[in-house]
Amino acid sequence: MAEQKRYRFATEVVTVDNPDDPHNAASVPIYQSATFKQKSATAGGEYDYSRSGNPTRTHLENHLAKVMGAKRALAVTSGMGALDVITRLVRAGEEIIAGDDLYGGTNRLLSFLNKSQNIKTHHIDTTRADAILPYLDPVKTRLVLLETPTNPLIKIADIPTIAQYVHDKCPNALVVVDNTMMSPYLQRPLEMGADISYHSGTKYLSGHHDLMAGVIGTRSDDVGDQLYYVINATGCGLGPFDSWLLLRGIKTLAVRMDKQQASAIRVCDFLERHGFKVHYPGSRKHPQYELHKRIASGPGAVLSFETGDVGISERIVEAAKLWSISVSFGCVNSLISMPCRMSHASIPAHIRAERALPEDLIRLCIGIEDVEDLLDDLRDALQAAGAIDVKA
Ligand SMILES: *Cc1c(COP(=O)(O)O)cnc(C)c1O
Repeated sequence: MAEQKRYRFATEVVTVDNPDDPHNAASVPIYQSATFKQKSATAGGEYDYSRSGNPTRTHLENHLAKVMGAKRALAVTSGMGALDVITRLVRAGEEIIAGDDLYGGTNRLLSFLNKSQNIKTHHIDTTRADAILPYLDPVKTRLVLLETPTNPLIKIADIPTIAQYVHDKCPNALVVVDNTMMSPYLQRPLEMGADISYHSGTKYLSGHHDLMAGVIGTRSDDVGDQLYYVINATGCGLGPFDSWLLLRGIKTLAVRMDKQQASAIRVCDFLERHGFKVHYPGSRKHPQYELHKRIASGPGAVLSFETGDVGISERIVEAAKLWSISVSFGCVNSLISMPCRMSHASIPAHIRAERALPEDLIRLCIGIEDVEDLLDDLRDALQAAGAIDVKA
């Protein structure tokens, strides 16, 4: 087959190849079928059973591989399902090295592996690349799990430098990046030395909070084959309807993210002008502004800020009208939350304090509404809560 011309991201993401469709359907059909018939007792076709493979899922996976720059992409039933599949490559007694400000569900799965299978995780401060060096063990280290930016503290990890350290010292270890926050539009871990990049497809890839999915991309066919084996063995491949929804959602990733990010920059600016401490990699005051700029092509659309008072934060969240009180992010609608009361409440208070996770922190996930409406609503909520002067 002739080499296909490569376009820029926003073009590639909306262009889904469907060359084999017998009716030239413009949208990939939903093959809502568990089984596929064979021509004879011995001649099997490309598909036989949807746990092992389904044409709608294959189209999605081929498209994802293209937009992620992956050798192979795999779609499963949730972001946590994706991490579950990846961690099944680790054997009892081997070790994982991960950040200290991880997604809550990731912490839960790693604790489970520690208790049930003697797979130990070392948590390190990934804002300093060399913090990993003392923990790298050529025999034991199997996975290095990075999240950047972290959530909700927006800490940045130097993916290329850490990947280099790991591959130099531990040839058997895999560098895995949870790229959910940035999406493949803004950050491309596989091009910076990561072996695996995965996403909660529930967030920016789908964009509408109407499905759950997980997406894994690999830099080599070999790792892709090992992960596919786990997916087929455990039965967590994404179903045809959700595959179709995700394929539809991802087409607008670039246009959504451009809009959401432009508005997030305005919101950050607004909050900083009112004197709030904002955590956002697009802020020049962010301690790792330069590093983030080097590894990603934009700051994204999730930020958090401190008010100095838990009561004020609660009143702000409850006074906002346009911003829904909700966990998660990546939706076309704007969301507001208090991580310590909501998404991160399962982390014990003393550990939240250890990690310097401020109890008054408010997280904002900016959607595609008109930014002037978002700013007006936020200003009203801040005023109603007594967080800013009415005259300001
Ligand atoms: C949401 C999320 C996950 C988990 O994904 P689910 O689809 O909810 O299972 C993992 N990592 C990050 C960074 C997330 O935001």
